[in-house]
Parts: sequence; structure tokens; C-alpha cells
Amino acid sequence: MRYSGSEWALSNVDLDIAEGEFVSIVGPSGCGKSTLLKLISGLELPSAGHVAVRGRRVDRPLSGIGFMFQRDALLPWATVAENIEVGLECGGYPKSQFDSRIDELLGLTGLQRFRNAFPRQLSGGMRQRVALARILAYAPDIYLMDEPFGALDAQTKVVMGQELMTIWSRAAHKSVVFVTHDIEEAVSLSDRVVVMGGRPGRIRTEYRIDLERP
Ligand code: ADP
Ligand code: ADP
Repeated sequence: MRYSGSEWALSNVDLDIAEGEFVSIVGPSGCGKSTLLKLISGLELPSAGHVAVRGRRVDRPLSGIGFMFQRDALLPWATVAENIEVGLECGGYPKSQFDSRIDELLGLTGLQRFRNAFPRQLSGGMRQRVALARILAYAPDIYLMDEPFGALDAQTKVVMGQELMTIWSRAAHKSVVFVTHDIEEAVSLSDRVVVMGGRPGRIRTEYRIDLERP
């Protein structure tokens, strides 16, 4: 992958992710982790080679994929509850249960008191928790997560990580691709860790962790 007029941002990538895997991607800043997620999601098209999801080339809108960006992409004009509601709508959640599910997700992410707040009134970590609540509301089959816990304190990180794992482990077909530069986080959450590095970014090595689904 090369962005227009730039050096290669990512090359020599040969990666297969099976349905139901929880894969972490680790590597230094700038090695192409975000670019890899953007390619999987179809936000960027590869300048060479190809990317396929469920056996289909990624060149048209895909359903069932949720992207959690490194910097939260919340709707600035919508409240916390309304941002979460977008996830429920996209995921086809029954409308009559929106309120109770929003309550549940606000509780889970510790945002009960901020239901009617706007993103600009929240700290970076809180906005990230809203983004997490929104992707959990959407409940996609494929979670693409770009350093989702980067702005969280250590304790919240653990709680959110456990929640993500619980959701993943409940449905055997759900896949998670989790970008982080925290190797401990990668090892504790995923059943496979892919290490990227070098210049331009490429995959150096992989570790498999035999993690039993709880
Ligand atoms: P981080 O280092 O925390 O991953 P960056 O500051 O590199 O974040 O990237 C922030 C945003 O800027 C991303 O959306 C990324 O795609 C974009 N970006 C990064 N590097 C460049 C660049 N050289 N030219 C244009 N956009 C870039
Ligand atoms: P990481 O997520 O591992 O920090 P990125 O995928 O953000 O790495 O970036 C990989 C390389 O591509 C970096 O050299 C970065 O500057 C460059 N890059 C990222 N986004 C853009 C962009 N939109 N335009 C140009 N270059 C970019």
C-alpha cells in the first residue's frame, strides 16, 4: 500500500485471519497497522495485491464490519445516547429495546451520568468509551479496532478488554482484529499476535497463544 505520492506504507503482507479469531497486531508507530485495518475495511484500496473478506475482494461496501478508530469518530452534534443509538440502528437491534440496551451499555462503560452530554463535553478517554459502546451496540461480525483503549486508564482498560473478550467468546464466528502497541494487552486478549515492523511495514513474526474461549 502506498498513499498518493508517498513511500510504501505497507508491503509484503501475507495475512490470513480465520473466522472466529481474535488477532492482535502490534508494532512501532508508523509501521502500517492503521493502514492494514483501513485496507481490510475497504476505506483504502491496495495499490498492489489484493484484500478479500469472506472470499470477496474488498472493492464495494461491506456489511457486518465495525471499525473503531484510534481517534473517536463520534457525531459531534449528537448526544452520547444518540451516538450509541446509531450503532443499534446499524446492527438492526429491535427498536423497542433501544432504551434498555443503551442503559446497559452506558452502565458497562461507566457513562450513565453522561447520557445527554455531547462529545465536546467529554474527555478523550470518555469519548473512546462512547465509541466502544457504539461498536458493542452495532455488534458486527468483524471488529476492526485501532488502539481502542489508548486513552483509557489502566483499570478501565482491563474492564473494557474483558467485555470485548466476553462478546467475542459468546459467538464462535465473531472475529476481532485489534491494533495496539501494548504487547501485554495483545497477549492477554488475543489468541494470535502478529508483529509488524521494518521499513516499509511488513509482518516479521507471529505468535499463537492457545487461549481457550471461556
Ligand atoms: P498515529 O501516529 O497516532 O498513528 P498519525 O498522527 O500518524 O497517528 O495519523 C493521524 C492521521 O493522519 C491518520 O488518519 C493518518 O492516516 C493520517 N496521516 C498519517 N501520516 C500521514 C501523512 N504522512 N500524510 C497524510 N496523512 C497522514
Ligand atoms: P501505524 O498505524 O502503525 O502507526 P500507519 O498505518 O498510520 O501506521 O502509517 C504507516 C505509514 O503510512 C506511515 O509512514 C504514515 O506516515 C503513512 N501514512 C499513513 N496515512 C497516510 C496518509 N493518509 N497519507 C500519506 N501517508 C500516510
